[in-house]
This record gives sequence, C-alpha cells and structure tokens, in this order.
Amino acid sequence: MAKAHIATVNAGAAGAVVRGHPWIWREAVTRIAPGAKTGDVVAIQDPAGRPIGLGLWDASSPIAARIYTRAIDRTLDAGLLVTAVARALARRERWKEDRETTAYRLCHGEGDRVPGVVIDRYADTAVLRLDGDAIAVWLSSLVDGVWPLLQALGVRSFALRASRGESDERLRPLAGDPPPDIVTVREHGVAMVVDLAHGQKTGAFLDQRENRRRVRELANGRRVLNLFSYAGGFSTAAILGGAQHVTSVDLAQAAHATAQDSMRANGIDPSAHAFVTADAFMFLDAAKKKGQRWDLIVSDPPSFAPSEKSRPRALTAYRRLHGACAAVLAPQGIFCASSCSSHVSADDFASTLDDAATGRADLSMVELHGPPWDHPTLPAAPEGRYLKFAVLV
Ligand code: SAH
Repeated sequence: MAKAHIATVNAGAAGAVVRGHPWIWREAVTRIAPGAKTGDVVAIQDPAGRPIGLGLWDASSPIAARIYTRAIDRTLDAGLLVTAVARALARRERWKEDRETTAYRLCHGEGDRVPGVVIDRYADTAVLRLDGDAIAVWLSSLVDGVWPLLQALGVRSFALRASRGESDERLRPLAGDPPPDIVTVREHGVAMVVDLAHGQKTGAFLDQRENRRRVRELANGRRVLNLFSYAGGFSTAAILGGAQHVTSVDLAQAAHATAQDSMRANGIDPSAHAFVTADAFMFLDAAKKKGQRWDLIVSDPPSFAPSEKSRPRALTAYRRLHGACAAVLAPQGIFCASSCSSHVSADDFASTLDDAATGRADLSMVELHGPPWDHPTLPAAPEGRYLKFAVLV
C-alpha cells in the first residue's frame, strides 16, 4: 500500500471535518503533495499541520477529497471501506422494523460514512452505485469484500448501475446470479414493479417509502391528483388506501406502463384510473380553466436546483407550482408537496408554500417529513437532508 499523500486544508474546512462533514472542496485545499492521483489515499492536515482524517483524493471533481475515517492511526484500505459498509448493513438489521418491506437502501454513502458508496436492495438483488471517480478506483476490492456480506443477508445477485451517459450497459453484473431487468418488491406489503435496468436512480425512489405509506393513510374516499407520478408509487398507495379515483401525470409515457404493472400486481384495474402524459404545469393550467378540483394532491417534481446558483430560480419555480396546485385543491383538501433539491433547505421549501405562493389563506402545514431511516444523514452536513415532504390542510 502506497503511503498517503498529505493534503493541507484551510481552517474552515478543518473545522467542518472535525464536526463530521465528509467533503473537502477544492478551493479549501491549501497544499497537496504533487503526484496525487484520483483514488489515492490522502492524509488531511489542518493549517497547523495536525492530522485530522484520511480520505480519497479526486484530481478533477470540485470535491477534492472525501473523508472515510477520522481515526488517523488507521490505514485507509479496502478492509476499512468494507468494514464501513458492514456497519451500514448492521444499522439496517437493527432498524428495519417491517419484514413486509423488501426494497430499501443498504448503504447511503456519506450518510453512512462511506462516501460515494450507495447500495440498494430490491428483494434478492443488490444494486451498487458509485458517486465520484475516486471510489470507482476501489470497485473490485470493494466488491470482493462486500459480496460475502450481502450473501449472508440472502442477496443472490449484485450489480453495478452505471451513471447516466457512462455506458450503454446500464446494469453490470458484479457477483452471483445475473441481475433481473425487472423485479417486483414490496413496500409495507404493497407490491412495486421496478425497472432496474432503465429506472431512475438505482431503479426506484426508495426515499419516498414512508411518504407513500402516509398518502395511503390519507387517501380514503378522495379524488387524488399525483403530479410527477413516475412509476406510480403514490398513485398505487392512494388507490390501496381507498381513493375514489387517481389521476397520474408525468412527462414520461413509459413510466405510466410501469405504474400500471404495479397496480395489477396489487390486484388493481388501472383502467379505472387516469394516466396523463403531459407537462405538470400545463396540465394544472388547463385543469384550472376547466374548473377541475381534487381532494388530495401529491407533487413530487425532479430537483429544480441542481446547483447553489440555480437556487433562487428553483424557489420561484416551486412557488409557481404550489400556486397552480392550490388553485385546483378542493376545499378541505390535502396538499402533499415534496422537494428533492439538496440546495433547498426545509425552511426555504416551507417558504415556497406561503399564502402569497398558494394564493390561499386557509392552508396550514401539519406535517413536514425528511428522509427515512434507511437514508441516514450527518448532523454536520445539512445538504444530505435533501428530501422534504410537507402536508398542508
Ligand atoms: N413521485 C415519484 C418520483 C418522481 S421523479 C415516486 O415516488 O417514485 C420525477 C418525475 O417527474 C419523473 O418521472 C419525470 O419524468 C417527471 N417530470 C419531469 N418534469 C416534468 C414535468 N414538467 N411535468 C411532468 N412530469 C415531469
């Protein structure tokens, strides 16, 4: 094992590392040993030259290093990475309360203190996604160490999900049986058909599981509008919860087909419900003009703020969306508004639901949920708490 390169960081970054933040931005690095390559181990030092942690170097990303341990007497090697993943797996075994849930995140990267390593479980299949080029250098030793741990949990196939545009082969087998393209999982007993090969993220938005359950509890007897419905998770939940009728709106027609498969897997006849392939903003404008109203509206758009710079524009877009939703919300209706933008804090998001945005003076926030137990976050890293789910009545 090559000796660690030394990287010195400024006082602000050193303080963040000591509080438990896992990232060093490139502009915070005041000195780096020449010749440090992506994936190399770096020993991080504060401005006084005190060692404060061990990380992996990335020669090109704006995040120059990600920290894997603050125990500076340790060696950062494959063994340490695998031990960190094992800790994440053990956390799931302690915390998972519902055996009727077969899809959940086994390792949540930074939130589990294994930066860049995301592993999702879909029944017998585990899907790995790597964030950043540094951890990708460690892929084969990571797989060798993690595969036996997954097998012990009953996982039979382990696959790598390539990042967007990285490769034609979206799902690359790593170990065990060849991975299925489509798999049916259960969330609190609800069947969900997941397209592992083509779906978003590692196949599904597992982070909304508890919120889908909440919508199931709230839907009884209501006419429901599910905007940005994707594979229909909220729609299926609402129908199983006794919704009178559900309208699912998404730009992607293919997503509706998966939604209908999930409904059938739950004994629901999809033809009793509406699936609209349209832009949500245009759909809402037209619905308002037609005088259509819904008793429960779910809005879960893609991130409007991919960067800190785009934050003000994103807040304006959320306000506009929330106004358009409130305009078609029936009296005594329930409005579930969600955001997955990491650059928009919970307070920022709440502000996009104020009376001026919704054009109403009767809506109060009764619940505000964050990420679920299998998406843990670091107290020192607020950007990890990207998911917001507000319920207004
Ligand atoms: N609610 C889903 C996740 C939504 S992901 C779940 O629980 O699984 C965001 C979805 O919004 C994607 O399916 C994407 O196709 C869709 N989308 C993006 N822009 C849109 C727009 N302007 N109008 C409608 N749908 C849009």
